[in-house]
Amino acid sequence: MPDRSRSAGLFRRSQACIPGGVNSPVRAFRAVGGEPLFITSGNGAYITDADGNRYIDYVCSWGAQLVGHAHPAVVSAIEQAAAGGLGFGAPSEAECRFAEILTAAMPSMEMVRAVNSGTEATMSALRVARGFTRRDKIVKFAGCYHGHADALLVAAGSGALTLGLPSCAGVSKNAVADTAVLPYNDSQALSDYFHDHGDKTAAVIIEPIAGNMNLICAAPAFIQTLRDYCTQYGCVLIFDEVMSGFRVAAGGAQQFFGIQPDMTCLGKVIGGGLNVAAFGGRRDIMQTLAPLGDVYQAGTLSGNPLALAAGLATLDIVLADGFYPRIGKITETLTQELQTAAAKAGVIFSAQAVGGMFGIYFAAQPPKSLTESEKCDVALFRRFFHAMLENGVYLAPSAFEAGFVSAAHDEQILAQTAQAAETAFSSIAATAH
Ligand code: PMP
Repeated sequence: MPDRSRSAGLFRRSQACIPGGVNSPVRAFRAVGGEPLFITSGNGAYITDADGNRYIDYVCSWGAQLVGHAHPAVVSAIEQAAAGGLGFGAPSEAECRFAEILTAAMPSMEMVRAVNSGTEATMSALRVARGFTRRDKIVKFAGCYHGHADALLVAAGSGALTLGLPSCAGVSKNAVADTAVLPYNDSQALSDYFHDHGDKTAAVIIEPIAGNMNLICAAPAFIQTLRDYCTQYGCVLIFDEVMSGFRVAAGGAQQFFGIQPDMTCLGKVIGGGLNVAAFGGRRDIMQTLAPLGDVYQAGTLSGNPLALAAGLATLDIVLADGFYPRIGKITETLTQELQTAAAKAGVIFSAQAVGGMFGIYFAAQPPKSLTESEKCDVALFRRFFHAMLENGVYLAPSAFEAGFVSAAHDEQILAQTAQAAETAFSSIAATAH
């Protein structure tokens, strides 16, 4: 077992002055047991902890680091921007370029506004949808996570699911009274809902490729049915592509499915690791935003020059020819190798890849809903997680999070991962039966 004494010391110090010792709950390792590693640096596909242990990283800053840690082009863009001033609270050319690039990559977004986090993006998109439709009800799906705005903290995925807090104290009944929760991938439930409430519904928000209840792909027919109902009833269809945007394809899940939402939320990759997110959509809908319309939304740091420099430099790399086919192949190879290693050890396991995202499941088949995801063997995942960590591979510390690959993950890194997986699977197989 590698020395983790410095991480342990930092965790003790942090717990005295930060709730749970962490600034975001999943980081605390509660779901897998043990104590979190404190990370001091990242380079390419690797992260290094406070004790100097190096790990192959499949969290990649929860998906943001698509080009790998500390990519020289991204670091130098941030340095250059910093030398010119850290922010002005006034418009800049970078913001214009950023919006041009996003709207070109995702044509369903005719207009877009930059914000600072995925939470801000989804919260603002919902407000716009309600302002545009003059309706109150919204729909989300069980196990999808859309950030921590009050109205969306119902049957939420990610940390809320990991920690068994699908509903959240401190959220008033009124704040969620207009939020309906439907099962993912269930067209009949959609049909029943729209029949009863479609004409009172402002928006449906969905992760079209869900990554917060492990990786779950929507069935194309389900997404098409959802699109059709939203069109029929005049509801705003919001694709939350904070995770899938620029990760599964340049044009996100909407390109993958060939289906256009009315609004889109982005985050993670578009900020290259810094605090940028965005929401956008149809021109007529986005024009309800102040100063054009009567929906207010604002931000002192929105479009910050350093954050946009990181985002623009990242987008420059990922939009180059061949980027997505290559990362898709790497992720596919990774999931195949993990499955081979599991089969060799006789562990019931499945995995799937979509672009630069993947899911691993201690179940015979990838799940299609939250209920199915919850049936995966969480105890076995925990043991696999720790065995991989001991063998130098850092996975998300929860059975309900997707995994992420970066452009810095190459064949040699995959081979190392496969070797670690063989050891990990055989160590858990000994007690799995
Ligand atoms: N939507 C989705 C799909 C996400 O995965 C996340 C974060 N994991 C968010 C919204 C919230 O983003 P942030 O953590 O930047 O607020």
